[in-house]
Amino acid sequence: MNIFVLNCGSSSIKYQLIESESKKVLAKGLLERIGNDGSFLKHYSVYDYAIEIKRPVANHTEGIQMVLDAMVNKEYGVINDLTEIAAFGHRVVHGGETFNQSVLINDQVIEDIKKCIPMAPLHNPANLTGIKACMSIVPNAPHVAVFDTAFHQTIPAKAYLYGLPYELYLKYGIRKYGFHGISHQYVSEMAAKYLKREPAELRLITCHLGNGASVAAVKHGKSIDTSMGFTPLEGLVMGTRCGEVDPAIIPFLMDMEDMTGKQVYQYLNNKSGVLGISGLSSDFRDLENAACNGDERARLAMDIFAYRVGKYIGAYAVAMGGVDAIIFTAGLGENSPMIREKICEGLAFMGTVLDKEKNALRDGIREINENGCALKLLVIPTNEELVIAKETERICQNVVFL
Ligand code: ADP
Repeated sequence: MNIFVLNCGSSSIKYQLIESESKKVLAKGLLERIGNDGSFLKHYSVYDYAIEIKRPVANHTEGIQMVLDAMVNKEYGVINDLTEIAAFGHRVVHGGETFNQSVLINDQVIEDIKKCIPMAPLHNPANLTGIKACMSIVPNAPHVAVFDTAFHQTIPAKAYLYGLPYELYLKYGIRKYGFHGISHQYVSEMAAKYLKREPAELRLITCHLGNGASVAAVKHGKSIDTSMGFTPLEGLVMGTRCGEVDPAIIPFLMDMEDMTGKQVYQYLNNKSGVLGISGLSSDFRDLENAACNGDERARLAMDIFAYRVGKYIGAYAVAMGGVDAIIFTAGLGENSPMIREKICEGLAFMGTVLDKEKNALRDGIREINENGCALKLLVIPTNEELVIAKETERICQNVVFL
């Protein structure tokens, strides 16, 4: 079954066409700068075509049309006609408490995704724009929404409620939702397969470490806690996001720096994290290079990042009454031996020691603890698009189309 997976941002569209049984990616690409000068599409196909098309793209409808045209292009396309796409899977960042799993999109679902906009003002409107544009171009195909929050809907109230008046939860839905659920779910399932154990037997800590970063406690196959919260700003120190800070810092900054609440929010989202600490970059490749060349603030930024990940590992080990494996994934988790080494420094008391030689290897699923350790350290490349494709297939198989 060919599934077209879409991840729409405010000015970008990421896509993959996946053959779900073989898990083969037939085509993938990225359209950037929608609605701005210099829009361009980078498209790769299974037949080794890589093309770049530069032309103005005014909105998401034009963008999706351009992407679908690329799919059926005689020269670099991979299908003859759009009816060869069985279904469309759309990534949606925030599903609130309404969606605890993926769902076939209809008018009511669109309304419910809209209701989550106040909680994800940057992401959900873009996701919705993409869904509506795609449904207007291909109205007869099934469209499925797969949510970043859904996997975390199993988190119990004692972990998802903040120390705020309960009325705020009832009135506005203020609680921890958690994000990166698609990735946490995928790597926890892959870990169980790798360990040849049932998910129901395992206590896992999954560390999704990319530009945005979060840690999750996955007990017996279910998320029971995660570091991101009401929004993706809480938790770890990230590329440009501050993670958790004393909330009193917000009015303090408003007074001292003469900022509005919105300005502080942007500051905490875009100017903070390892970028703010190092004063250099949000990209850990730059920080590693700088630290190796003696830049103390770059080193400090990495130390702070790793220290915070370690604190969550400790907390979640207690939350689950033990831990069988810690999993590293996403851009940094998969590719940075240096960060993994820093995070694992304090883990010996928990029954694991990082093997530096194994840690330096690249590619594929790998175990990086010394032989014989009870607590496993695993690197598992994430594949969120594949999860979306599989979920889309699953939902479509359970629905009778009239
Ligand atoms: P997102 O999907 O959140 O944008 P990714 O999961 O693609 O992010 O991760 C991107 C980040 O991963 C980069 O900003 C960089 O910090 C880090 N990264 C990627 N490759 C490497 C590498 N080889 N060494 C160190 N860090 C890396």
